[in-house]
Amino acid sequence: MDTTNATQSDLRCPTCAGQCSYSPTYRGLECASCGNVHDLKTDDDYRAAEELGYNPNLTGEDLPDLSKTRAHHCKTCGGVVLFTGPALSERCPYCDGPVVLGTQDTSYETMALIPFEIDAMYAQHQAQDWVKRRIAAPNDLEDIVAKARVAGLYAPFWTFDSEEAVEYWAQYTVGSSSNRRTKTTKGKMRISFDDLLMPASPHVTPLIRDGILHDFDPSALRPYREGYLAGFAAERHHQSVADGLDSNEADKRLLIRNRIKQHINKSGVNNLGYHTHTSGIHYRRILLPVWILHYEYRGQPMKVVVSGIDGRTYGERPFSVPKIAAYSGLLSAIAIIIGLAWGAGGLL
Ligand SMILES: [Zn+2]
Ligand SMILES: [Zn+2]
Repeated sequence: MDTTNATQSDLRCPTCAGQCSYSPTYRGLECASCGNVHDLKTDDDYRAAEELGYNPNLTGEDLPDLSKTRAHHCKTCGGVVLFTGPALSERCPYCDGPVVLGTQDTSYETMALIPFEIDAMYAQHQAQDWVKRRIAAPNDLEDIVAKARVAGLYAPFWTFDSEEAVEYWAQYTVGSSSNRRTKTTKGKMRISFDDLLMPASPHVTPLIRDGILHDFDPSALRPYREGYLAGFAAERHHQSVADGLDSNEADKRLLIRNRIKQHINKSGVNNLGYHTHTSGIHYRRILLPVWILHYEYRGQPMKVVVSGIDGRTYGERPFSVPKIAAYSGLLSAIAIIIGLAWGAGGLL
């Protein structure tokens, strides 16, 4: 097992040497002993939203090793704190003090993060309120969710920019039903993608990205500092940049096809094809704050997620079959299920 020298001294209170955790309420490190709050601002804060140019020839330098377990000796009590798998932030199991890995311990640099601005109490309220407001929810759901507690997590993401030079061809139909004809069209267009958000861990489901974080504001990014993670769980990136770009391809295809349809501006477009020349790829390796409320309904694990930035809430929920049947006078049951499950988020 490797040993590591994770950050703890920076998490000490300069006033009384007590242990500090990040406080979303005070936007700083709050001492558990004396209650003083210490600022985490730096002169470089304004640079946190900067991006890196992607160089496809430089591969391998950022491959994360998630199989290693690292041991850290707690500077407060001497106990052993283990960092396993993707964990970036832990608490000492003996004295409960926060311990956070620095960028020197991860073989790559987490460039920036958006600190939590929503505290646990508010997130708890948001998650429970979301469940209460669902129509066709089973009657016993509210009580089950009332017992569940939110947990805060910094989740890993990529942002990608690119320039696309697209050439497309397509067919569309014109005329009335009695006189329908097929026409062909082709064209060229340029598309600039800016800050496409891509999950960098299999634990970050589309629920989180599409439901609550899809329009996050990069200007709220701050440089990675261990203090922001103190007291919160945090997960490192599971992929290299190249793998992140690969997994972004399907999203990009969907967006490009939609833009082409807008560009053609005709109804009845079909048989659409295109090729694109991609250039100017830029990326960021960032963490975004999420509150997650896990609950179980009749053996089925579900979760409600709350954005740690603005409290936006989205989730998974069971449906009451009798209640859906009662609504079906207005809409078909299927339309209710699909509309409620995906209506609030939108795909991207
Ligand atoms: Zn203190
Ligand atoms: Zn300890």
